[in-house]
Amino acid sequence: AFADRIEAHNGKLNAVLDFDPAHALEQARAIDARRAQGHDLGPLAGVPIAIKDNICRRGELTTCCSRMLASYRPPFDATVIRRLHHAGAVILGRLNMDEFAMGSSNETSCFGPARNPWDLERSPGGSSGGAAAAVAASLAPTALGSDTGGSIRQPAALTGVVGLKPTYGRVSRYGLVAFASSLDQIGPFGREVADVARVLSVIAGRDPMDSTSVDRDVPDYLAALESKPDRPLRVGLAREFFSEGLDPEVESAIREAARVFEAEGATVSEISLPNSKHAIPAYYIVAPAEASSNLARYDGTIFGHRAEDFEPKTDAEKDLPALIRMMMASRAEGFGPEVTRRIMLGTFVLSAGYADRYYVQALKVRRLIRDDFDRAFQNVDVILGPTSPVPAFKVGEKLSDPLAMYLLDVYTGPANLAGIPGISLPGGLTKSGLPIGIQLQAPAFAEETLLRAARIFE
Ligand code: GLN
Repeated sequence: AFADRIEAHNGKLNAVLDFDPAHALEQARAIDARRAQGHDLGPLAGVPIAIKDNICRRGELTTCCSRMLASYRPPFDATVIRRLHHAGAVILGRLNMDEFAMGSSNETSCFGPARNPWDLERSPGGSSGGAAAAVAASLAPTALGSDTGGSIRQPAALTGVVGLKPTYGRVSRYGLVAFASSLDQIGPFGREVADVARVLSVIAGRDPMDSTSVDRDVPDYLAALESKPDRPLRVGLAREFFSEGLDPEVESAIREAARVFEAEGATVSEISLPNSKHAIPAYYIVAPAEASSNLARYDGTIFGHRAEDFEPKTDAEKDLPALIRMMMASRAEGFGPEVTRRIMLGTFVLSAGYADRYYVQALKVRRLIRDDFDRAFQNVDVILGPTSPVPAFKVGEKLSDPLAMYLLDVYTGPANLAGIPGISLPGGLTKSGLPIGIQLQAPAFAEETLLRAARIFE
């Protein structure tokens, strides 16, 4: 059924980049055969799942939607892929995304933008735009994305699906092509809270291949949804959320969500996250700094596209060794404009003389943002707020204005800086019929609380 839907709708959506129905059916038949032989089947037996193009699968193209990795076939599976196979999931192919996950609209992809199923003129958000569009249009029931500053939650919001960014360290990043290693986290998309809970239980847990994955028990998140909490949920609403730039219809959806929680027996109180206004500047220093370092490996020698022509084009280039010219030409050809901008920003904020003023300062701000959350979570269990300040925007509307694009991360970036989990849930439609996302955030490793709260709202 999903293969038929991909066939029928993907041409317009450009969400799934390549899909081999025969291969998917073969995986599904192998699971049927195991069942027939009386084997225990995993918790995701037969469940199709599509994968963002920055998560490595052995022998399969994994390109990060960049010319730089256009022909890269990893020799290994990411840990999450190994776990999905073990759980019996059927991998449905790879999903469009912003180049190297840098963007909020899926427009920086070298394969062209994915489209929002609610309105094909509009973006599904990004960077996991293909994942969100695929789940929203039922091309796949679930998908894996990655979230460095909002890339699971924001596209989920713009397409009316559920998207979860787990706690930093909850899910192994082994085999996730690195963007900003201290912020990146893999997480699930689904149509319902129960679906992301199911997938999280499979992919979470300590992995010796990722030293930042944390050794903590993985609860049965699905069972957690059914369990009764011993006291009413305490929901916090940060006063800083309601500031300039928040679309009035998104604001009313958040206020309405607060009323829903109260009607369900939760208490809603005002909290403050005073340093949240510094989150965008801090994020756009820390993330590019780490990106510039991570992307240094693509030099055309071991990793990445290699330029064929690297003859000197200017007098200055004549004095450079051929190896350096080859690397320069390869990087210039391989990386698109947004990735280049991030590398320039990152190397600048890390450079001698500027690192203290920018990078080190941003790390201090990052700490203050985390302290704000710690303080808030002394009084509330979850924080309710917007996911994106605006509903889905038109393809092309923001691409030429990087700062406008960066501002879209205002509500999602803080969770990555603090390492806490966040989930975006469908919170109704605008008058013109576009989905609005509401976000819940919880303390580190409180995914059970987060998912249970999400279920109340659902
Ligand atoms: N929009 C943010 C950025 O461009 C976040 C991207 C992400 O989470 N991968 O960096």
